[in-house]
Amino acid sequence: MISLEANAKINLSLDVLNKREDGYHNLRMIMQTVQLHDTITIQKIPSGVEIDCVASYVPNNNTNIACKAAAVMIDKYKLDAGVRIKIDKKIPVAAGLAGGSADAAAVIKGINSMFSIGIKQDELMKVGRTIGADVPYCIMGGTALAEGTGERLTVLPVLRGIPILIIKPRIGVSTAWVYKSLKLDKVGSRPDTEALISAIENRDIKFIADNMRNVLESVTIAKYPVIEKIKRALLDKGAVGSMMSGSGPSVFGIFEDEEKAQNAYNKMKKSMNECILTYTA
Ligand code: ATP
Repeated sequence: MISLEANAKINLSLDVLNKREDGYHNLRMIMQTVQLHDTITIQKIPSGVEIDCVASYVPNNNTNIACKAAAVMIDKYKLDAGVRIKIDKKIPVAAGLAGGSADAAAVIKGINSMFSIGIKQDELMKVGRTIGADVPYCIMGGTALAEGTGERLTVLPVLRGIPILIIKPRIGVSTAWVYKSLKLDKVGSRPDTEALISAIENRDIKFIADNMRNVLESVTIAKYPVIEKIKRALLDKGAVGSMMSGSGPSVFGIFEDEEKAQNAYNKMKKSMNECILTYTA
C-alpha cells in the first residue's frame, strides 16, 4: 500500500494566445503548486481498477480520472496486478484548481513506485499527457511556465511558503463553456508573462500580486459577478493581490504574511462557501 499527496495548483497568470485549428487554444500560463491536497492511497489487488471516492460531483466509478490513469499504467507497462484507489478529496471540485489532474498524476507516480517500474519523470509526464493537459504539470509540480495546451513546461524558480487564501463560490463553471465563450479581442488586460517570470526570479511578491492576470476572467466575471466581489473582498481583507484560478470559479488572494492571511481567513470563512488557507509549495 502506498499513500501520496495530490497537490492542487493555482495560476499566477493565464494568457490565451490564439485558437488552433483542432479547436484547442494555445495558452501561456504560470502554474504554482499549493500545499492543499487530496490524499491518494493505492493498494494492489489481483486485477482491475477499483475506486473508493466519496465526494460530491466526483465519479465513484471507472470514469474517475484517477482510474483512467491507473488503467493506462497497467496496460502500458503490462502489470500483473490491479489497484484499488482511495481518494480523500480536499481540493474543491471543478474549481480551476486541477484537482482531477492532481489525482491522476499521483496515481501515475504511485503505480510507478509501487510496481518498481522505474520510469523517469519525463516519461511519466508523457503518459500523463494522454490523460489530460494539466497532468504533466501536476506530475512535475512547483512553479512552472506552461505553454501549448499546457503540456509544454519550463521549470521556474521555486516560490514556496507564500500564504494563499482560496475561495470557491457556490457555482459550477464548465471549462469547455469558458473557452467557447472567450472572445480574444475582448479580454481586457493581458499578463506580462516575462515580467512576472522576472519577479518570480527575484521573489518580488508585491509585483507578482499587482501584475497577475487571467484573461478567462473576461468570460466568467461577465456571467458571475460574484467572482469580482470575492476578488475585492480578499483585497479589502488584506490580500496584496487576488485573481481567479484557471477557468474558475475559485478565486485566491496572495498575502505578505501569515498573520494577515489568518486574519482574512477568520473574517471570511463564515460568509464564504469554501474557504481554504494554504501556502505555495
Ligand atoms: P482544471 O483546473 O484542470 O480545469 P478543475 O479543478 O476545474 O480542473 P476538477 O476538479 O479536476 O476540475 O474536476 C473536473 C470534472 O472532472 C468534475 O466535473 C468531476 O466530476 C470530474 N472528475 C473525474 N475524476 C475526478 C477526480 N479524481 N477529482 C475531481 N474531479 C474528477
